[in-house]
This record gives sequence, C-alpha cells and structure tokens, in this order.
Amino acid sequence: MTETVTNWAGNITYTAKELHRPSSPAALAALVAGSGRVRVLGSGHSFNEIAEPGAEGVLLSIAGFPPVIDVDSAARTVRVGGGVRYAELARVVHAHGLALPNMASLPHISVAGSVATGTHGSGVGNAPLASAVREVELVVADGSTVTIGRGDARFAGAVTSLGALGVVTALTLDLEPSYDVEQHLFTELPLENLDFEAVMGSAYSVSLFTDWREPGFGQVWLKRRTDQPLAEFPWAAPATEKLHPVPGMPAVNCTEQFGVPGPWHERLPHFRAEFTPSSGAELQSEYLLPRRYAVEALHAVDGVRETVAGVLQTCEVRTVAADEQWLSPAYGRDTVALHFTWIEDTAAVLPVVRRLEEALDGFEARPHWGKVFTTPGAALRERYPRLDDFRALARDLDPSGKFANGFVRDVLAD
Ligand SMILES: Cc1cc2nc3c(=O)[nH]c(=O)nc-3n(C[C@H](O)[C@H](O)[C@H](O)COP(=O)(O)OP(=O)(O)OC[C@H]3O[C@@H](n4cnc5c(N)ncnc54)[C@H](O)[C@@H]3O)c2cc1C
Repeated sequence: MTETVTNWAGNITYTAKELHRPSSPAALAALVAGSGRVRVLGSGHSFNEIAEPGAEGVLLSIAGFPPVIDVDSAARTVRVGGGVRYAELARVVHAHGLALPNMASLPHISVAGSVATGTHGSGVGNAPLASAVREVELVVADGSTVTIGRGDARFAGAVTSLGALGVVTALTLDLEPSYDVEQHLFTELPLENLDFEAVMGSAYSVSLFTDWREPGFGQVWLKRRTDQPLAEFPWAAPATEKLHPVPGMPAVNCTEQFGVPGPWHERLPHFRAEFTPSSGAELQSEYLLPRRYAVEALHAVDGVRETVAGVLQTCEVRTVAADEQWLSPAYGRDTVALHFTWIEDTAAVLPVVRRLEEALDGFEARPHWGKVFTTPGAALRERYPRLDDFRALARDLDPSGKFANGFVRDVLAD
C-alpha cells in the first residue's frame, strides 16, 4: 500500500496491496465484484490480524459513507450504516428518547466491527451487543445485496461473522425507552470467599478490576439503572476519589462516577467519547468461559499472578448472558469474561498469554475474536458446536472464499 495503515493499537500494519474507500454503494458493489480477496476495516480497534486481507487482497473502509442513522420511534428500531460508531449512534438514539440495552467499555468502536467479533459489555442479564441486531444487510461476493433478518434460518450465523460473509452496509437494531444510569465505585474486594454470583448480580452491569499485584480486586464498578433498585454492596468500601481502571491514568477520561445519574450512553461505557479510551498504549486479550467456572478460573489466574502482573496494566472481570450467534464467544452459555490490558510489548506479552491460556486449560475458554490469543485453531473448533453451520453459510454466500483471510481460514479449517 502507498499509505501505511495500522490498527488503533499500532501492533498490526496491514499488508494489503490497496486500501479503498468507496464513496457510494454502487462503487462498493463494483469494487467487491471485481476483487479477488477483500476484508473490511471497521474502526480498527481489534488487536490481531482479523481484518488483514493479505498482501494480494484489498482492504476497504466504508467509514466515509454518509452516516445513516434512521430511528423508527414507533417500531423502536434504528437502521445504522456499516461505518457508524457507537458514539454517534448513541447520541442520535438518545435524542429520540430511546436507548440500546448495553455498550462496551468505549463508544469509539464501529457497530458493524463490534458485532462481527462478539463485542460485549457486562451484566448477568446482558448478552453481547450483537443480540440487539434484528437485521443485517450485506454486499456479498458478486456485488449483490443480501438482507438477513431474525426468523431467517441463516440469521444466527450472519451477525457475529468475523467479517467473513461480505461487507455489512447496514444493521437494524432493537431499541428500548431511554433510561438513566448511576456509577458507584468500590475498592478492595477480596478474592477469598468471593460470592461471585451475588457481587456480579448486584447491579445492571458490574465490572471487577485488578492488576493482580495482590490477590483480589482493587476496584468494583457498579452501573445501576435508576429504574431498578439500588442494592446493598456489603463486600467492599465505597471509593473516596474518582478512578480510572488503569492505575495511574487520569479519571477525567472516564464517565461520571459517585452515583451522579446520567443518560445510559454516558455511563455504560467506562471511557468518555471525547478522550482516549483505556491507556492508549496497550495490547488486549480476553477469555470467555462458562460462568459456573468463574471462581475456580479466578483462582487459576491468581496461581500465575506474578507472571501475569509483570506485563499487565489492568484486568477486568465481567459477565455476559448467553446468546445464539453461532460464532459468539457467549454462544449457548452464561459467561464470565476475563479481560487483560497488557503493556504495549508483543514479545514480552505473548509468552504470558500462553502461560495464562495454560492456566485456563479445562475451562472451555473461548478467546475474544478481536484480541490477542494463541489458542490453536483445532482447540477453537472444539469450542464452537455450530461451526459446520457457519461454514455452510459462508460457502453459500461466498463460494470462492473472497472474504476469508488467514485468520478466518484457521478458525474454519477451510
Ligand atoms: C480500548 C479498547 C477497548 C475495548 N473494549 C471492549 C469491550 O468493552 N468489550 C469487548 O467485547 N471488546 C472490546 N474491545 C474490542 C473491540 O470491541 C473489538 O475489537 C471490535 O471488533 C472493534 O470494532 P472495530 O470496528 O474497530 O473492528 P475492526 O478491528 O476494524 O474489525 C473487526 C472485524 O470486523 C470486521 N468488520 C468491520 N466492519 C465491517 C463491515 N462493515 N462489514 C463486514 N465486516 C466488518 C473486520 O473485517 C474484522 O473482521 C476493545 C478494544 C479497544 C481498543
């Protein structure tokens, strides 16, 4: 490529021969039909080669398309363009008195890229962000547009699709009436005798943070919907100052705390749209396990605490409700998600990732599709019972494998 294109973290430089930014649906269709290998770049917030088309392929971005955000207030739905980010979407949806059920830790990410990788927030009752999708519009290999909605037998493969089916040009999402959220932070929650279910069920969305330098959790973030009761939290002390999940980073980057109520989209993400999310200089990994293993798995991580802590900025523990997308890391099981924000040093981090994966062996961990992992394809395939269905769908929509790349072929073993 004449220009250097990297992901947000800067650890991946795409080797594609060209980056195309088609300016209209017609130009997009012609480009797809006329290309041999294609991948779409969303907002580039993944940490691995999932978006990489390979040196002979075309990388394309539709971020420059006019930002479609069409709210249907009566139906409580929104049709959103494939290049739009959650921050823009949330502002428009909120202005209509409506809301999304959940958000990730940051609003900077594109909707299409997020649901493609199974991106999630937290909450025992909150499934991944893809669960709000009711219809997906795709430009497929021959340049035609295919629309797949709930009720179509292909739907459960079509949303969390790793970008392997075509270019998502629009998604229609379910909305609900707007609601307010308060954030209450606590400090020093012990791991010893942790009542995981009670702690994680104590608010609409709960996150635990630790740097694993000590056993236990330095921070607990409760996000309470103001239309739901405020539960007691007897296990840890209320925070006495505003906090950032990465120790030493400024809390001004974070959404309002100390129980100040505010609209859902300004409280559900940890990071404010107008600031750099997280630390900005980092790698990330995340493993999603059946929730019943949560306490045992946390003790397993505690067992390699010193190794992990050496390259860690922060670790976040969340819950995710089961969903039905075949390639979702939460497919068919209520989930605990163990997230790791590492230092920005691939050579130092990779051996620790391997050690961590060994420690989590036996817990049926599914790595986040958009983050750093070393789990071999064969082990991944055992953990996705509907992989054959997805393969058949990919063959049907993309017979020549135009949208497959090395990452996807490894997963599908195609
Ligand atoms: C600071 C930070 C915080 C994060 N927090 C969370 C979190 O709270 N929860 C969580 O689960 N994850 C989190 N992530 C991970 C992030 O949500 C995922 O990596 C997500 O995929 C990012 O979306 P993107 O548009 O940037 O995707 P990209 O990295 O651009 O692409 C991801 C995949 O989606 C495909 N894709 C993108 N757009 C399209 C399209 N229009 N059509 C077809 N395919 C498309 C790409 O080809 C690729 O396969 C975080 C990442 C960062 C950097």
